[in-house]
Amino acid sequence: MKRILVTGGAGFIGSHLCEKLLNEGNDVICLDNYFTGSKANIAHLLGHPYFEVARHDVTMPFFAEVDEIYNLACPASPIHYQYNAIKTVKTSVMGAINMLGLAKRVKAKILQASTSEVYGDPKVHPQTEDYWGHVNPIGLRACYDEGKRCAETLFVNYHRQNGVRIKIARIFNTYGPRMLPDDGRVVSNFIVQALSGKPVTIFGNGSQTRSFQYIDDLVEGLIRLMNSDDEFTGPVNLGNPSEFSILELAEKVMKMIPGCNITPDFKPLPEDDPMQRQPDIALARKKLEWEPVIPLDEGLKHTIDYFAKILKR
Ligand code: NAD
Ligand code: UDP
Repeated sequence: MKRILVTGGAGFIGSHLCEKLLNEGNDVICLDNYFTGSKANIAHLLGHPYFEVARHDVTMPFFAEVDEIYNLACPASPIHYQYNAIKTVKTSVMGAINMLGLAKRVKAKILQASTSEVYGDPKVHPQTEDYWGHVNPIGLRACYDEGKRCAETLFVNYHRQNGVRIKIARIFNTYGPRMLPDDGRVVSNFIVQALSGKPVTIFGNGSQTRSFQYIDDLVEGLIRLMNSDDEFTGPVNLGNPSEFSILELAEKVMKMIPGCNITPDFKPLPEDDPMQRQPDIALARKKLEWEPVIPLDEGLKHTIDYFAKILKR
């Protein structure tokens, strides 16, 4: 049995990861400050004898004897990470330092939830791991993008200087049950708006693209990465290469929700909003023997069913 720490464990991705790690027979500590996470996300795990929860902020040191650390703590939706931009940078940078320090002391393996945002508004398409990115260091998204880039720098240097066993996952847009209804990200926004009989809000003309990965595929990829050979540190892209424009996504969601045929509400495109994004996953296929298996239509169906249920409550 491995003792595993999941920071941000009460969030969208973290709660699914905690659940799978417990189901695989591990001893799991979920650490969270509940900024965007919730106890409701992990309520079903609370009776489990090998599940423990710590209310804690990763900007402060944390002590526990563990074998593995998944460092997920950080708000991921633009409206949440821009709410307190300085705190977002601190969470990524000081959180990485504290968790790497812990990994070094207890000789744990540590995985960083990095992001496709390290590529910024990319000039290379699809994005491969050797692309250095095109990021505005002083823009509104910089608190998130640059915080995550600095966390990657810290990870590789703890590896080079101190021999800490690291893994870096560059996660592309992921969606599924347990996103917050007011999360602000596009998939949850469109579904919640359509289910509430409101027009979906399309930013810009909707021609910008994203590649949407269902949560179960990501969790499988994260665990495979953690269990990969020690020499393989990443960074490695984890995402679904099927790319859609935001307009196509809106049409799909509206088609899947009966009676929803309201004209979309077009709003201005936010600053520095990337125009296109698609992962090249050749490295993950080769090193992790992993690729996403859940198509957008199927994942959207599960997500719509989830939101339909929670909106009725
Ligand atoms: P989320 O907002 O649902 O989860 C983040 C969790 O971290 C929340 O539970 C929040 O309360 C917690 N948290 C935030 N700041 C904290 C702090 N200072 N100390 C302790 N806990 C803190 O977001 P998510 O979608 O589950 O994302 C999880 C991780 O994956 C994040 O690091 C995010 O950057 C990364 N990621 C997500 C996506 C995606 O599409 N969902 C894409 C790329 C990267
Ligand atoms: N978006 C949109 N309507 C919304 C929310 C988002 O058109 O209600 C757009 C947003 O401008 C971006 C894309 O959808 O181009 C993905 O946004 P999200 O915040 O989900 O992820 P990110 O931009 O971080 O990839």
